[in-house]
Amino acid sequence: MMQVGDWQLQTVSGGRFKVDGGTMFSVVPKPLWSRKVTADDLNRVDQATNCLLIQTGEKNLLIDTGYGSKLSEKQRKFLDAEAGNPLSDSLSEVGVSRDDIDLVILTHLHFDHAGGVTRYDADGNLELEFPQAEHIVQQGEWNVATADWPELKNVYSAENFELLADSGQLRSIEGDVELLPGVRTLVTGGHTEFHQAIVIEHGQEAFYYLADICPTSWNLPTAWCTGFDLNQLETRRAKRRILTEIAERNAWLLFDHDPELAAVKISADDRGEFVVSDRLPAV
Ligand SMILES: [Zn+2]
Repeated sequence: MMQVGDWQLQTVSGGRFKVDGGTMFSVVPKPLWSRKVTADDLNRVDQATNCLLIQTGEKNLLIDTGYGSKLSEKQRKFLDAEAGNPLSDSLSEVGVSRDDIDLVILTHLHFDHAGGVTRYDADGNLELEFPQAEHIVQQGEWNVATADWPELKNVYSAENFELLADSGQLRSIEGDVELLPGVRTLVTGGHTEFHQAIVIEHGQEAFYYLADICPTSWNLPTAWCTGFDLNQLETRRAKRRILTEIAERNAWLLFDHDPELAAVKISADDRGEFVVSDRLPAV
C-alpha cells in the first residue's frame, strides 16, 4: 500500500492465471525470454491481474477488474485461473465491499480486465459486481467490443459488459479526459485501437497505470510486446514515449500483469531502453 498525501493507493488481485509464453513475447525468441521467465511444462508463464484501488477519502476508485467469477470450468483449467471471485476476496481483505466502489475505470474490455464488471447472482442472472459505481470506458473501445465483428470473435465477451448499456452506470468518454482532479486517462492505442492508460497525480507523486502497453517488467524493452497487440508498431511508439516521460518525471510505473512487481521506477540506459531502478512487490 502506498500513502500519497491523503490518498491511499494499493493493488488488489483480480486473480492469477497463466498465458502461453510465445504469445506473451510475440517476436522475441524463447532463448531470449526464457532468461527472464521460467515457463511451465505447457510453455505457460505466470500472470497476475493487478487492479488498482485508489481511496481519496471521498471516493473509492478501481482500475480494471480482473477476469471475474464467470469463467467456465474449461476456461479456468485452460488458463489455470483461480476459482471463486478473487477480486471480491482481495477487496474484502482491505475492508472494501462491492457497494463501496464509486468509480470503475476500464483500460479496455478484454476478459482479463472487464470480467469482474459483472457476476451471476444466486438465481444465475447477471448483475453488476459494483452496483453503485459509474463505469468509465472509451467510446471507441465500447464500439469495437460491442460490434460483434467476426475477426474479433474470441477477444470480447458480451456478458462482461453489455449489462452496462442500459444500466445508466456507463460513462463513455472520448480521448484524454480528467475524471477527477489528479486522475486522467491517456489513450495509447496499440494493444487495442482505443486502449487507455491511467495517470494519477497527487501531492508530489505521479503514477502511470500503463495496462497492456507494458504489462510486466519483462516487457520494458521496446520490441518486447505481446502477441495480443492489434498494432505492435503503435504499442512500441506509445511505450517509448510514455516510458520516457515516466523516467523524466521519476514517476511510478504500475504493471497490470506482473506476478512479482506491482510498481517500479525506471531510468534510461545508454541504449535508450529502460531499466528498473526501484520496485514495490505485487500483492
Ligand atoms: Zn488486453
